[in-house]
Amino acid sequence: MTEPAAPFPLGERSLRPGTRTELELPIAKTVTGAPLALPVLVLHGRTAGPVMWVNAAIHGDEVNGVEIIRRVSSQIDVRTLRGTVIAVPVVNVPGFVNGDRYLPDRRDLNRSFPGSPRGSLASRIAHIFMTEIVARCTVGIDLHSGSGHRTNLAQVRGDLDNPVVRTLADAFATPVMMHASTRDGSLRQAGNEAGAAVVMFEGGEAWRFDEDSIRIGTAGVLRVLETMDMIESLDDHLVAPRPVVCRSSRWVRARRSGVAQLSVTTGDHVQKNQELGSIHDAFGNRQSRITAPVGGIVVGLNLDPIVNQGDAMIHVAEPEDIS
Ligand SMILES: [Zn+2]
Repeated sequence: MTEPAAPFPLGERSLRPGTRTELELPIAKTVTGAPLALPVLVLHGRTAGPVMWVNAAIHGDEVNGVEIIRRVSSQIDVRTLRGTVIAVPVVNVPGFVNGDRYLPDRRDLNRSFPGSPRGSLASRIAHIFMTEIVARCTVGIDLHSGSGHRTNLAQVRGDLDNPVVRTLADAFATPVMMHASTRDGSLRQAGNEAGAAVVMFEGGEAWRFDEDSIRIGTAGVLRVLETMDMIESLDDHLVAPRPVVCRSSRWVRARRSGVAQLSVTTGDHVQKNQELGSIHDAFGNRQSRITAPVGGIVVGLNLDPIVNQGDAMIHVAEPEDIS
């Protein structure tokens, strides 16, 4: 049974079924008076169906998701799309312009949801995103990368005890999926509270494209659309193996300050007490061995070799069922 779609309202517009529309939602003005706007691409199918959003760059330095959205949107045909995809490639517009994770006042946009129309700039952007986008959707995908000098193995995070989130995470099929309790002020939490099932994708590092993460993320978003019956069946090459489910993880911290040499990379499986690298002082004397506190999969790494005592270095996630 296919029912024709109705016009889709967004901002001041009403979008016809079977159209692809680029919109700019006004946020504020910059210090020089130039308008600051949220770029939104709406793919409104001819046939009625679910409404899903996909966003990137809530942290302005996380560019992999921007490329994932470009690749996904280029593969969606609005003539055959069932339902509507709202793509927001850049949410933290001021941060993105400056290559900065945060807003100019150092606020973290992903701690500013659901926001308010009269709050800080972060709070205002969050409010526009909630009222114009999240309010119209039942499902959302929030694309991220590692922060600072960290890189992440491609993974989805979400409340895996929520059956809808779990179905989406299964469809996404990244190598690892991580159960994550919600964080105050995050888009994921605000979206879930507004009644949408939200999954978060993490892959690669800030400022740089990571081709593996981009490819996995693009295929994952398309598989979610396929699972929701919004697009036609995908080619076999997009079928992925079952992900490893992890419910807990540990950061291995530097026991001494110095220069670190790591012998593992993201995706590696490690055993408890396995040597993962070492830390040397400026003279080249070994200060400490880095060992795995638990067995599991390396899902994140600090790429900066200069470490201070206590710095998080290697993120090890523990698979749910080690047999
Ligand atoms: Zn992020």
